[in-house]
Amino acid sequence: MADDRLIQGMAGNGDFRIIAAQTTNTVETAREILDLSPVATDALGRALTASLLLARLLDKHLRNQYVTLRFEGDGPLGVMIAEGTVAGAARGFVANRVPEEGALDVGRAIGRGMLTVVRGTPPAGKPYTSQVSLHGSGIAQELTQYLDRSEQISSAVLLGVLNRREGVAAAGGIVIQAFPHAPENAVAAVEERIREAPPLSTLIEKMPIEDVVAQVLHGMDYKQIDSSFNVPLSYTCSCSRERALAPLALFGADELREMIDQGGTEVVCQFCGRKYSFTPHDLAALSLPHDA
Ligand SMILES: [Zn+2]
Repeated sequence: MADDRLIQGMAGNGDFRIIAAQTTNTVETAREILDLSPVATDALGRALTASLLLARLLDKHLRNQYVTLRFEGDGPLGVMIAEGTVAGAARGFVANRVPEEGALDVGRAIGRGMLTVVRGTPPAGKPYTSQVSLHGSGIAQELTQYLDRSEQISSAVLLGVLNRREGVAAAGGIVIQAFPHAPENAVAAVEERIREAPPLSTLIEKMPIEDVVAQVLHGMDYKQIDSSFNVPLSYTCSCSRERALAPLALFGADELREMIDQGGTEVVCQFCGRKYSFTPHDLAALSLPHDA
């Protein structure tokens, strides 16, 4: 299978900016690592794809920007987090990866609640955070509203994940951004193309993402930007031993003492399952008062 990638283009004589991603392998890796049920795969797969698309869409030439999408709905999946970077790394987490109710659609599996979008550029720079209500309408719909209300970006967001018994057969997404100068009839034409298009994931199963976008936007003068600007995408976690240790420093002296007495502790990364073991010696170093 072809490598996951993000591509960019323009349509309608520069009235529209297009960002699209093929994320089949990324979502399949998430499914394997996090042991996700089909509905959790559908939901997190869309969210991971969206975080990668938004990191690119909202990038102001910062190059190492990340976007974190935190879904806190009242649906059976519980809290779901997806994080993507401009460089193409995505990782995620679902609190309840195997909900008891089967055959739910993604909108209901997430439910109503709050979506928090954080974007920033580590390590310096204050992250920019905004919140919108979740209406249980599905991730593409919720993000279209977020872009409209919080970023003043008029857009259409398409996301899809196709699960088969043996795993993820196709996943990806397209964001079509209408620039303010886009004439109304052109916007209407794009909306019609989107309504007419077959489900995105079935297109991605059949053809490369380049052809999928060209088909969805047929007759709209779509042109892909040179493929040297493509970004390879993957499920990649940025955790490290130092970062795993840092939260332990916040524990009180008694709690640290207990961990030391128990012969150390282990921290498991919620995004990738990597395990970090800390010896009593490591923990004792944390509890020492720092020199002024
Ligand atoms: Zn990790």
